[in-house]
Amino acid sequence: MKITFLGTGTSQGIPIIGSDHPVCKSANPKDKRLRVSVLIEWNGFHYVIDCGPDFRYQMLRSGCSKIDAILFTHEHSDHVMGLDDIRPFYFKQGDISIYAHKRVIKALKRRFDYIFTTKNKYPGAPSLHVNRIKNKAFKLNEEEVIPIKGLHASLEVFGYRFNDFAYLTDMKSVSDKEIEKLKGVKVLVVNALRIQPHHSHFNLEEALAFIERVNPEKAYLTHISHLLGFHDEVEKSLPDNVFLAYDELEILI
Ligand SMILES: [Zn+2]
Ligand SMILES: [Zn+2]
Repeated sequence: MKITFLGTGTSQGIPIIGSDHPVCKSANPKDKRLRVSVLIEWNGFHYVIDCGPDFRYQMLRSGCSKIDAILFTHEHSDHVMGLDDIRPFYFKQGDISIYAHKRVIKALKRRFDYIFTTKNKYPGAPSLHVNRIKNKAFKLNEEEVIPIKGLHASLEVFGYRFNDFAYLTDMKSVSDKEIEKLKGVKVLVVNALRIQPHHSHFNLEEALAFIERVNPEKAYLTHISHLLGFHDEVEKSLPDNVFLAYDELEILI
């Protein structure tokens, strides 16, 4: 399994438009973060988690030329607003499979009504094969994927476990029962927004405490804001098995 971090930034990305913050001005490429998403290449299939506003550029940058499914964590704009840009994949492959909770599908239908409409559909609009998922394991091309439910303030969001790999973002709390599902995972990705607490995201301290509970071999932090600090400095402060993800980082599991 190969994981490519397509984006590792929080909702505004880094740099933020018009910001003079030193992290936004940093020349280090690792301090430049598109909106969060990962590409998972598994048994010859290509899966993307979330499809935010940077999706088009992320597909070009990673050289991804085929998508077998998009899994959504939740419906916030930084995770869904690139959906129109699946068109090149749709033109080549036909309907694109998406997997999401029914609430997320409802939100997508509101925002992208022209994609879901069946009446007078514009010929250039893409079409989807919609798979509604619950908090229950499901199959993706014969392999099992396990949703991990967490709370993002009061909003339920899904992380996903694929064998030895798990990807969780926009979490503020995860119940003991859901943490059980992460037992034995080798590589864990989890969100860490900034140093100060935040009402709907783990800050660094909460993310590290969560990682300690899950106890993976390695963990990577994502959904990072400029307020976490410079990549190289934060990285030095982390425990030995915890790393800051950065855009275009690839890991093999
Ligand atoms: Zn987000
Ligand atoms: Zn969110």
